[in-house]
Amino acid sequence: MTPDSSPRGSRSRLLKWLGIAGDDEPTDDIAAADPSLFRDPTARDIWLPAKRRLLGKVADFLIDHDLEVMPWTMEIAYDCVSGAKPKLAQMILERTEAGQAITINWLEKVMREEKGDSSAELLAALMSRLEGTLEEFSNATTNARSATTEYGAALQQHVDELEQVGRAGAVISELAALAKAMMQRTREIEQNLTQSERRAMELQSSLEEARRVADEDHLTGLPNRRAFETLFEREYVSARAAGEPLCIAFCDIDNFKRINDSHGHAAGDRVLKVVADTLSQISDARCHVARHGGEEFAVLFRALTPQKAWDRLDQARQSIADRRLVNRATDMPFGRVTFSGGIADVFAYGTRSDALRAADDALYAAKQSGRNCIVVAGDTPPSLRDAA
Ligand code: GH3
Ligand code: MG
Ligand code: MG
Repeated sequence: MTPDSSPRGSRSRLLKWLGIAGDDEPTDDIAAADPSLFRDPTARDIWLPAKRRLLGKVADFLIDHDLEVMPWTMEIAYDCVSGAKPKLAQMILERTEAGQAITINWLEKVMREEKGDSSAELLAALMSRLEGTLEEFSNATTNARSATTEYGAALQQHVDELEQVGRAGAVISELAALAKAMMQRTREIEQNLTQSERRAMELQSSLEEARRVADEDHLTGLPNRRAFETLFEREYVSARAAGEPLCIAFCDIDNFKRINDSHGHAAGDRVLKVVADTLSQISDARCHVARHGGEEFAVLFRALTPQKAWDRLDQARQSIADRRLVNRATDMPFGRVTFSGGIADVFAYGTRSDALRAADDALYAAKQSGRNCIVVAGDTPPSLRDAA
């Protein structure tokens, strides 16, 4: 007999795998026949069917959208069906209604954007707290300064009066009272200053951490696309001012979808990390590697001619192509993992976006040329060169 492949059958297998139902998964009819319903319902009687319904909906979501069962797809399914993320649920509904599939790729993009938004919100909140604390800090300093000025003036007046010897006794006791009050107030101001200083330092380190998280790709630890764009802008201005060359490269893993399809998304993630690590090995203070999105990386070469940039990137290409990666979860070989790349000489183009487009076109030419090669924009791709 063939296994039950109907959505209902897959759902009950998934529930069984999750450890919450077996083949004898109770239906509402069976529950109705359950004698326990004749007694007063306990909290368990009420919550268990609700829990089952929720988990059933999570399972239906994953099956209906043909998504792999992974911690984060289950989390997304839960967020959508439980109402925890109504905006995401709405986006999924709209996409489904438009006849478009809910793919891992699309979900990742949406989650990345959402993460970007929340990082930006976190930064904005930290900035406003920092501004508030800095305002407090400067108020405290102003208070300290005006208090000192006031005491200074009062002391000056008493010192002047001291010179008129007749009133010396009265002036000295007034001076002692004034000095006491001054010491007390100075102590208070000092405490405020210390507190403001400590809070400013705490905020500064939270701000640095938030900036780091907002700029980092969580899977590979490389700078993300946003951080890369900032870096590109900075290097563009400074390389032009210094009259140094600047090259931009795009690299894209070849046939990566096949790796995901044959080994699963989690194994695909590990391959992505290996490629990211290999590319990081060519980076230094003048060569920046970032994850531009998906299975694509961007590399910026400062002070290198396109030919020198090609040499450097080709080393990384060769190094990954020479390795024989094995899926450590199954001991199955991944086969040869390769990437293709396209390089553009940034200042040969009118704008930064023209240079990015040229690098992307060169990457496309590398793919067309058979993959596992690097093409410099404007040069003939290897396959056409060989044919000539
Ligand atoms: P090509 O050589 O033409 O680039 O083919 P490809 O299969 O690499 O390209 P395609 O654009 O068809 O597929 C890219 C795949 O990369 C699809 C997507 O699911 C996968 N992908 C993107 N980001 C991630 C990720 O973070 N982790 C995993 N495991 N897969 C990802
Ligand atoms: Mg690819
Ligand atoms: Mg790609």
